[in-house]
Amino acid sequence: MNMNSSKEKHYVVAIDGTSGSGKSSTARIVAKELGILHLDTGAMYRAVTFLAQEKGIVPVDAEGLKNLLSDLKWEVDARGHLRVNGRDLSREIRTDGVTAAVSDFARIPMVREALVPIQREIGLRNPAVVEGRDMATVVFPNARFKFFMYASPEVRAKRRVMELKTMGQEPDFQHVLANLIERDHIDSSRQHSPLAKAPDAVEIDTSGLTFADQVAIIVSHVLNNR
Ligand code: C5P
Repeated sequence: MNMNSSKEKHYVVAIDGTSGSGKSSTARIVAKELGILHLDTGAMYRAVTFLAQEKGIVPVDAEGLKNLLSDLKWEVDARGHLRVNGRDLSREIRTDGVTAAVSDFARIPMVREALVPIQREIGLRNPAVVEGRDMATVVFPNARFKFFMYASPEVRAKRRVMELKTMGQEPDFQHVLANLIERDHIDSSRQHSPLAKAPDAVEIDTSGLTFADQVAIIVSHVLNNR
């Protein structure tokens, strides 16, 4: 199947970007407006981290991780929520403990090698908005649409604080900011599939944009070129 043909009904919208650039919330609404699936691949790395922590598996425990990864069954339910082994972990994966550790699990080649084929399978089976760090560069290099979202660290930390507050948490701004900067560093400097902009991705600096602007830029680009 030629994914680049404008006649194809099936298409992938790949959105990459830094932590807190607004990717996830934007991708969710873009997918809703386009009537296609939303795949949050960060949620998959977070779920592996949560499940590892639940079983007391640390990133250097290769054997433990191998067993954990071989046991996972992934599906996207009717509401578009990702389930792993039948569990919807949407809340559990947003805790501080998971956020602090996720980049250390995501940098492990074995973890990426287990998740990428599942991401490809979901994205190739359904027209989808796929969102993460390496969607346009590694997982879907032939995606019809590619976007790279970013914003200043302070703007991103403010947004994350607001998001966490709506989830009933009481985050500290400096702590959130430090974590974002640390994750950017780990994500961009790792050897395997680092966070990077694909040369053919459309760049969106969301620092001065409203949420509605971000969504509108992507949706109109897709609708005008589909
Ligand atoms: O997008 P989110 O901030 O929830 O992603 C959590 C973490 O998962 C990132 O900091 C990154 O370490 C990792 N990740 C990744 N590749 C992806 C998506 C997320 O390495 N495609």
